[in-house]
Order: sequence, then structure tokens, then C-alpha cells
Amino acid sequence: MPTQPNWITRDRAHIWHPYTQMKTADAPIAIVAGKGAELYDESGKVYIDAVASWWTNIHGHAHPYMAEKLATQAHKLEHVIFAGFTHPSAIELAERLLPLLPEGQSKVFFSDNGSTAVEVGIKMAIQYFYNQGITRKKVIAFDLAYHGDTFGTMSVGGDLSFYDAFQDFLYQVERIPTPVPGQEAACMQALEAHLQKGDVAAFVFEPLVLGAAGMLMYTPEVLDQLMALCKKYGALCIADEVMTGFGRTGRLFATLHCTEKPDIIALSKGLTGGMLPMALTTCTEAIYQAFYSDDKMKALYHGHSFTGNPLGCAVALASLDLLLSEETQQNIQRLVQRQAAFLAKIKNHHQVLNLRQTGTILAIEFKTESNSGYFNNLRDHLYRFFLQHGLILRPLGNVVYVLPPYCITDVQLDQVYAAIEKALDLGFRVADFGFRNPSELDMGDCAE
Ligand SMILES: *Cc1c(COP(=O)(O)O)cnc(C)c1O
Repeated sequence: MPTQPNWITRDRAHIWHPYTQMKTADAPIAIVAGKGAELYDESGKVYIDAVASWWTNIHGHAHPYMAEKLATQAHKLEHVIFAGFTHPSAIELAERLLPLLPEGQSKVFFSDNGSTAVEVGIKMAIQYFYNQGITRKKVIAFDLAYHGDTFGTMSVGGDLSFYDAFQDFLYQVERIPTPVPGQEAACMQALEAHLQKGDVAAFVFEPLVLGAAGMLMYTPEVLDQLMALCKKYGALCIADEVMTGFGRTGRLFATLHCTEKPDIIALSKGLTGGMLPMALTTCTEAIYQAFYSDDKMKALYHGHSFTGNPLGCAVALASLDLLLSEETQQNIQRLVQRQAAFLAKIKNHHQVLNLRQTGTILAIEFKTESNSGYFNNLRDHLYRFFLQHGLILRPLGNVVYVLPPYCITDVQLDQVYAAIEKALDLGFRVADFGFRNPSELDMGDCAE
């Protein structure tokens, strides 16, 4: 037990954690510092952050360059109301970011997190038609989509079983099969059937990788065909690049792998390199023009207290500097290659059900006898096993994924891969049947 100030007791007394059953969850780990891909707990134990702190961190923790830019901005201007006012960091960020996005993106709308970025995108799409007196109200999404936790984004989210209590409060969305290998034709047909009715406002999707559903992947060719169908029938395409943006897929944005262009793009997680909460929704000039009017009621009535926060903008600019540097671009390519090499190495392991990679993201599906899915208890065993090995890997059900900051070193990657191989070798399927209890497993066979 820690001899430091008792953070855990004090945490338990007052704090309610996200996505956590507080009664049954293990005590949280108090992290007091970070550097590069490493996090340090109160006793000095080192953890490799192989999930990039919920997919947000791209340059490593407490990056000195970003911390410096943050401090400089804080000493100059920390915040200003963004209606009726503006500031240099927001302007510079919009100017620098737009040319990096798929062609045609023309305006930037600020918010605070991924959910609101998607929510704003959906509101833009619906009001785009409303402002022109066109009746198009339907929204289409993948059946396993995840777009956030607000009511608006829960509605477009697929069947991920988190939403049961709220089902009666969600608006109706048409669902099409997620185009994982084998489902492409079914997905395409379902989309076209909906589009033919002429009442679809928008199709919202996670491009190439569906994160929360278990890092499900599909190809740019499929996405091109889906976007082309939407164009053909006059529906808007909303790309939720909240997770895939800023280099995750090996290119700056996932939709840059495609020829067709989205109309609206939602960005957040990697935007500030993981340092501050901020989000953006970008759109084409055509969408902007549907709101640009002498009629006040045609404006987009949406905003948040911290819209366009200068600290967030300054850190996002610093993150862009780093992201576009030769060093980071090389790190991204190195990570893509290392992930591919590890995939090839474990490809034929008897414990592997499925392996997939898109850019810097590698997903390993473990064999299990019980139903795959988020609540698979194999997940808890694996999660604890990796923690014991000083690794933060948060399996989604039986899917272990590696999604680290790009600065993760080869030595750190070796540690991650070695632990995953060990977990595969140990045959966690046995534990899944309950023949051994998790604590026995943690302390016994698996401890170094
Ligand atoms: C995380 C995520 C969101 C929600 O972002 P928050 O910042 O958690 O609200 C939306 N879409 C995708 C694809 C995500 O991965």
C-alpha cells in the first residue's frame, strides 16, 4: 500500500469516475507525473500509456514545448468570450488547420469535446436543409457506431448497450450494417435504400476505424463508395475524425485516404495533443452559405462558455508544430511498421481470433468461449494482467488494442508486445471459464 498521502481514500470519498461501476471497480491508480509515453504513480511505479490516455495523447505527457506555449498564452490571454470577439490563436489555428484537411473545408466552429463536435456537425446538417426549406430530416449511422455521450450523439450511436436507460429519449436514426469484411455489400445496399427515399439529411460515420466498438476496421475504397452514394442522392457526409484525426491512420486525417470528400468533419482528441479539452467542427463553404443570411433565425444558435478558448488554441498550434515536424512524421511511420511487424509475428498464434491494423492502430482479438463484447470478463483479467506488467492497455471486451503516443520508444513497444504475447501464451480463455480467480492469476503465474 502507498505510504504517500492517501489519494485513493480521498478519491473514493468524493469522486465519481467515468465508465466505472464504482462498487466493483478496482481502486484507481493515482498518477502524479508523466513524461513521454510514461506515467508515474505515487509510489514511483512506471506505466507505459499504450492507449494514449483514451486516444488523446500524440506527443507524450507533459511535453515541454507544449507546456511552454501554454504558459506563454496563459500569461497573455487565458480566455475571452467568442461571440463578438476573437483572438490571434484561434485565427491562426483555423488558418493553419483548414489547408491540412481534405479539400473543400472552409470554416471552423469551436467546441470542447468530441461529443459536442459531432453534435454540432449533425445540427449543421439538419439546419442546412431547414434553412433552405428542404425536408430532409433523416440521419444514417453504422449499427456499431460510437459518436459520444450527449443525447444527440447517443442517438446516432449504435447498439453498444450503454444506452438502455435512455432509449425512449433518443431520436430516431436509420442504421446500416458496419462494413467490416464480408458486410460491405449489405452496408452499401442498406445505405442506398435509405438514400433513395430522398429524405436523408446526413450520414455520420467514423472513417476507417470504429473505435469504441472494438477497433473495427474497413477500407478507404468502401468509404469512397459510401460517400459517393451520399453525393449522388444529395445527403451530407459527416466524418467523425475525433479518434482518427491527427495522424492515427498513418495520414493526417483518415478521410485523406479517400478520393471523395466529406462535407463536415468533427475533430477533438488529438487536436491539442491530449493536453487540453477542445474540439472543432469544420464544414464546406456551401454549408456555411446556407446559414449566411440577413435573417437572424438562420444563424447557428450553438455555443459553449469556453468556445475558442485561447489556451486550447495555443496548445493545438504547438501540437501542430510537433505533428508536422520531421521527427513526428518519422515516428508515425516507425510505429506503423512496428505494429505491422508484430501483427505478422503473432498472426498464427492459436489464441488469436482476429488481427487488424489501420496506420498506427493495432487490434488483437483474443479467442474466447463467452460472447465477445464490452462486458466480457476476459477483459478485466487482461486489464489487470497488463497493469501488473506496467502497461496501460484497456481491452474493449476481448479486443486488445495498441494505440500509443507517437513518441513511444522501440524499447517501450517491445515491452508492450512482450506482455501481449505472454497473455496470448497463458491462454486467458481458461481464466474466462472461472477455473482460476483473477487475483490468483495476477499474483501467481503472471507476475514477473
Ligand atoms: C471519443 C470519441 C467521441 C467522443 O469524444 P468525447 O471527447 O469523449 O466527448 C466521439 N467520436 C469518436 C469517434 C470518439 O472516439
